[in-house]
Amino acid sequence: MDSDIVMVDDKGKRVDGREANDLRPMKIEAGVLPNADGSAYLEIGKNKVLAAVYGPRECHPRHLQDPTKAIVQCKYNMQSYSVSDRKRPGPDRRSAEISKIISEALESVILTELFPRASIDVYIEIMQANAGTRCAGLTAASVALADAGMPMRDLVPSVAVGKADGKLLLDLNKEEDNFGEADLPLAIIPKTDEVVLLQMDGHMTKEEFDSAMKTGVAACHEIYEMQKDALRRRYSVGEEEEVEE
Ligand code: UDP
Repeated sequence: MDSDIVMVDDKGKRVDGREANDLRPMKIEAGVLPNADGSAYLEIGKNKVLAAVYGPRECHPRHLQDPTKAIVQCKYNMQSYSVSDRKRPGPDRRSAEISKIISEALESVILTELFPRASIDVYIEIMQANAGTRCAGLTAASVALADAGMPMRDLVPSVAVGKADGKLLLDLNKEEDNFGEADLPLAIIPKTDEVVLLQMDGHMTKEEFDSAMKTGVAACHEIYEMQKDALRRRYSVGEEEEVEE
């Protein structure tokens, strides 16, 4: 950490004016891509993310087919123009890692056993990045899956909790992620509070970790409400239409 850079001021305000446990402003819209089976657009702070779902459909490459269940193949892609220093286009180790952990988190909620040999393909495009894109991508992907009518146990909200200037902070932005001491992305199944994604960079005490988990789980429940609201808006019959019927 660079000790010259102040991430939290004397009044507890962060660089973008938030309190420690505030999420960045968030917006979710379901069903934005007519050609996909399901889709979602999500903004959180300066992150802009698109998720598209196809399937269940024939699994390619065929040798990946599982006769007992569908496989979930997620492709997380960060566009070159999504960050200020041009990112080299195409797949890299980071996107392979993120694609894998998101696939695994989604597999834990999709009823894959209903679709043997099939593939459920999830594409996540990061169009603008400002830290927390894996969480934003997973949150958007589970809304896109629900929009596709995929049989699922639940949605999967996700957020990161981190530490900067010795304080636990919810939903780190880019500055806090770069200059902070820790970053802990997590995702849960809200109905049971099971953790389906957990990673950690940096250092925290056991007490800080416990507290960060508590804050993160509570924030996931907030995000869950926004996910459900996006789906409700997508499928609700407008008042006027209801009157007409
Ligand atoms: N980032 C970047 N270039 C890269 C990868 C990441 O500028 O090649 C930025 C981007 O803003 C990203 C942030 O660093 O959101 C944090 O990246 P990290 O790998 O921690 O993943 P994220 O927090 O986005 O899930």
